[in-house]
Amino acid sequence: MAPSIDDIIKKVQNENRHILNEFESKELIAAAGIAIPKQELVLATKGASAVVEACEKIGFPVVMKLMSDKIVHKSDAGAVKLGIGSGAEATTAFEELMAIECVDDQKAISVQEMAGKPIVEIIIGSISDPQFGPAIMFGIGGVLVEVMKDVSFRIAPISDFDADEMLHEIKGFPLLNGFRGREKADLDAIKDTLKKISELVWNHQEINEMDLNPLFIYSDRILAVDGRVILKK
Ligand code: ADP
Ligand code: MG
Repeated sequence: MAPSIDDIIKKVQNENRHILNEFESKELIAAAGIAIPKQELVLATKGASAVVEACEKIGFPVVMKLMSDKIVHKSDAGAVKLGIGSGAEATTAFEELMAIECVDDQKAISVQEMAGKPIVEIIIGSISDPQFGPAIMFGIGGVLVEVMKDVSFRIAPISDFDADEMLHEIKGFPLLNGFRGREKADLDAIKDTLKKISELVWNHQEINEMDLNPLFIYSDRILAVDGRVILKK
């Protein structure tokens, strides 16, 4: 049975940690009702054959990522291997991931379903303000967030009306709304996800911040492909 939100938070706290790795963060997000790609965690000590087995269970092509709470930007560290198409490729990727310097006691690999190309990559996050409590952030992924700071914020808990405003007030909104013959993104799925994240951080104030970067948005669904959750110390 899939672990509950409380199970995941308690396990991390019992291990005296406060940063969830991507696998744990996405388990938490899934427990909050948000779709994630299928994922399997394999301890590095189990070796390449266990990784290949996990790939076969998920079904090629897969994505392999090195899980470490010391790595914040996985792709910058070479810790994301996309489009692995065979057991031989998985074995090579495993060796490359094992060669990455990091100081964790127990290295682990997340093997996950390779999600199809989205219409747009979006970002949803939360931060916790000592005075105002949790706030929710929304933006279009990639350069639009990093360079243009094109994001919207609301204090949690957010209403349907807030979610709708958050969606419409970013400059990049036309990219989601069928601009120049593009496919139109599932706007209801975005609003639903904003509300689920708001509910999650409102009901679990042990969460200090979280970052879903990116979520893949399609014409009929949304999928969180990366996640990072940090608990209060
Ligand atoms: P980082 O820690 O560098 O943000 P991500 O987990 O976000 O690492 O992966 C980097 C990029 O790889 C993502 O922005 C996304 O475009 C792509 N990606 C990651 N996971 C998947 C997946 N399961 N399926 C398809 N693409 C993925
Ligand atoms: Mg990311």
